[in-house]
Amino acid sequence: ADTPVETDVVIIGAGPAGLFAAFQCAMLRLNCLLIDVLPEVGGQCIALYPEKPIYDIPACPAIEASQLIAQLEKQIAPFNIPRLLKHRVDDVSGNRGDFSVKTDKGTTVKAKAIIIAAGAGAFGPNRPPLEGLEHFEETGSVQYYVRRKADFANRNIVIAGGGDSALDWALALKDNAKKLYLVHRRDRFRGAPESLRLLDDAVAAGQIEKITPYQLHALHGENGKLSAVEVIDLDGTTRKLEADTLLPFFGLATDLGPIATWDIQTARSVIPVRPSDCETSRAGIFAIGDIASYPGKLKLILQSFSEAAMATHAIHPIVHPDQALHFEHSTTRGVPATA
Ligand code: FAD
Repeated sequence: ADTPVETDVVIIGAGPAGLFAAFQCAMLRLNCLLIDVLPEVGGQCIALYPEKPIYDIPACPAIEASQLIAQLEKQIAPFNIPRLLKHRVDDVSGNRGDFSVKTDKGTTVKAKAIIIAAGAGAFGPNRPPLEGLEHFEETGSVQYYVRRKADFANRNIVIAGGGDSALDWALALKDNAKKLYLVHRRDRFRGAPESLRLLDDAVAAGQIEKITPYQLHALHGENGKLSAVEVIDLDGTTRKLEADTLLPFFGLATDLGPIATWDIQTARSVIPVRPSDCETSRAGIFAIGDIASYPGKLKLILQSFSEAAMATHAIHPIVHPDQALHFEHSTTRGVPATA
């Protein structure tokens, strides 16, 4: 019953762009509601790289991704902004000033304007086509993200993939793993020259065993607990690698998902917006962050912050048509004392 069903602005996506848009709404006295399909806020920063330092946030020489999200949360904490987590927005109807947003859980939210901050859309890992895969995913034997390196200590790990992620995680996990295999269907890996050199060193030192050119073929184990990963080469020769953990890094599938059906002009997996205020082709619906596109767009967090400010300022007259907005600096309108 405490789920709000009416608000001024619905923000779809609670990554860094959505979280900062919530702050900007609060500063302009616009009520807002954050919706995200994931169980926690933070978008890619939390789902993909919580322990990675970020070096290009203004005034933060280095900040871990999870710390950045914690700071964004702290910035909006005084405003108690409501959120619907584990809700995917499936449908948007109505017009500027009077929208309805429906989630997969059957919740309907009415709002005067919409900010889409959905990043890469409903993003997810490319999963290898292996029989019984979902059982091994359920137990955590197969995982696609490394959230905490410590969770992988003393494990027999198979990492699969030939790009930066596979390489970087092999190097990051090798010191604490019991055994680490790196499987790739080609002999050559794609990565930064320095990472390739470190890989050669780790292979020479026996810390990483390279299994090339092999592909994943089958998973063995009982009740979803992995005991071995079977790999196969081009001639059909198979090998069984004893392992309790498989980490496939085959890239991210980016898919606009339901957004593609919302009557908004899209291009591949982005939404073209007017650069001056981030409005989409549908009046009253704005897009910011990775999903927004215009000439000169950089998919960087710092740019999404400025887009959040522009979009919310443009939304103000939709919510308060009779009030002129003279606000510009955060000092001129009081921020509630930090909780
Ligand atoms: P996201 O972070 O992708 O968040 C979007 C959210 O929307 C997600 O939580 C998703 O679940 C939700 N969502 C999508 N569709 C729906 C729907 N229909 N209903 C409900 N919820 C939905 N950027 C930098 O500036 N500096 C860096 O150093 C840096 N390093 C990076 C390292 C890696 C490994 C990666 C992958 C990215 C890095 N980036 C970096 C990029 C940065 O993470 C993105 O630019 C940023 O996360 C984009 O924020 P966002 O809020 O637009 O989208």
